[in-house]
Parts: sequence; structure tokens; C-alpha cells
Amino acid sequence: MTDKYTANGEAAMRTGLEGKSTVVTGGGSGIGRAAALRFAEEGARVLIADIAAEAAEKAAEEVRALGAPAEAVVGDLSRQEVVDRVAATARDRFGGVDVLVNNAGIMDDMSAAADVSDELWERLIRVNLTAPFLLTRAVLPDMVERGSGAIVFTASEASLRGSAAGAAYTASKHGVAGLVKSTAVMYRDKGIRVNAVAPGGTATGIRVDASAAPTGPQALAPYMANVGRVAEADELAAAIVFLASDAASNINGAVLPVDNGWSAV
Ligand code: NAD
Repeated sequence: MTDKYTANGEAAMRTGLEGKSTVVTGGGSGIGRAAALRFAEEGARVLIADIAAEAAEKAAEEVRALGAPAEAVVGDLSRQEVVDRVAATARDRFGGVDVLVNNAGIMDDMSAAADVSDELWERLIRVNLTAPFLLTRAVLPDMVERGSGAIVFTASEASLRGSAAGAAYTASKHGVAGLVKSTAVMYRDKGIRVNAVAPGGTATGIRVDASAAPTGPQALAPYMANVGRVAEADELAAAIVFLASDAASNINGAVLPVDNGWSAV
């Protein structure tokens, strides 16, 4: 992690993130963990919300090791009581939420529509779309009251087009793009910005059942030809921090591809 565009106090003032209360969902691993560490380097306070207890606690330790206050809340964010616990912890420990990063997600099945079971549909939509909606709904009233706030979602290449990520995942991520745009437009006069990053292929632990892809594992070859190279999680984290920062003060409702040009192919 040597290519930080902000690594000192002067730069941190430009991002305006110093002391900001930040919630990162899925902060235990992959893109969320990398974002949590970057927010810590900016001097933000970081609450990591993740279903994976050990990963969440470890990431919180890593944040503290960078000198930033950290909390970990463990649970399934598609459940209202877990969302309530995240919001309550942020309020009690950090005084509220300045920045919400709705990043947690799953992609463990790439079935075409006719092969999507009720269970799969419900699960993908609940985790990838309903959970970020619940958390967004929970933090907005406070942000409105304070007249400021930034929300950044981790959308996907599958938010922008059909891709080959399966019907349920693609529908959930198109839903995320709709939630981003609607919320951005309806809250922009309250000082709140809402944006998303759209990763292409990123080197994380997200489990992809390639055997369930409509065209099988061989689909990886044309995919790699389009994406060129897989991104590092930290390259997504840099874009998330930028969108949350004062440097992006006039960017609102954007779904920003961070995909080495895949979406331009
Ligand atoms: P990851 O598996 O490393 O991280 C996802 C994190 O979310 C994990 O720590 C996991 O425990 C957590 N999580 C999953 N379900 C949860 C739930 N119900 N409640 C709370 N936490 C939960 O994968 P990643 O690649 O870092 O994924 C982050 C986001 O990036 C996801 O939304 C994913 O859809 C998106 N994305 C990733 C890629 C990629 O190639 N890696 C591409 C496009 C989009």
C-alpha cells in the first residue's frame, strides 16, 4: 500500500475525513477491509459490520493499529435487529454516522433465471439489496438532521449490464444502482451525497461458483480478455474513500466503474 494519494495530515484535511464516523459493511475482508484501513489512515473512526465474527474483530484490530478508533458489530445485515445494533453502536460510540459504506455482498451462484430457486432469489436480494437499503434507511434521518453525510455502495459491473453473474446477483446489483440514484436525487438538497463503485473482477475471497455459470468455467477466458487484469481490493478502496471525501463534493448519484476499462469494451 504505497500509492496513497493521502498519507499525511495536510492531505487528510483535503479529504475532510478526519474524525468522521464511518460504517463499513463487509469490512472484515476484501474490498471492505481495504476501505476500512484507508479510512483509518485518513483519521476516521471506523465501525466494521460483518457476519464473520473473527474477520470483523481482526479488521477492527488492524484499524486500531493504525491509531484510529474502531468498533466491530457482528451479524447478518439483512436482519433488521442487526442493522439497529449497527446504528445504535455508531450513535453510542461515535455520535452517529457521517459516512456509510454499504459494501457487504455475496455472489455464490450464477444461475440463469429459469434455474434460480425461491431460496436463492430471496437470499441474494436480501443480502445484496435489502440489507444496504435497511442501513441506508436507518442512518438517513440523522444525516438529514445534521445536514451532511456521504453514502457509498459497492455495486458491480453487474449493476451496469447483463454480464454473466447470474440472474439474482445481476438483479440485486441493478437494484443497488437504482437505490443509489434515487437516494442521491431525493437527498441532495439535504447535504447528503450517495454514490457507488462498480468493481469488475477484484481479487477477494468472494465465492464464485463457476460451475453454475451458464457457459461453464470456460467463460473465464472471454471475461479475462475484457477485464484485462483483476483489480486489487485496495484499488476499489481508494475509489470508495474518494467518493466519501470532500474531494468528491459535487459527485452525486454516480456508479463509478473501477474495472480497468471493462465497461468501456
Ligand atoms: P468478500 O467476500 O471478501 O467480502 C464480503 C464481506 O461481506 C465478507 O467479509 C462477508 O463476511 C460479508 N458479508 C456477506 N454477507 C453478509 C451479511 N449478510 N451480513 C454482513 N456481512 C456480510 O468479497 P468482496 O469482493 O470484497 O465483496 C465486497 C462487495 O464487492 C460485494 O458487494 C460484492 O458483490 C462486490 N463485488 C465484488 C467483485 C469481485 O470481483 N470481488 C466484483 C463486483 C462486485
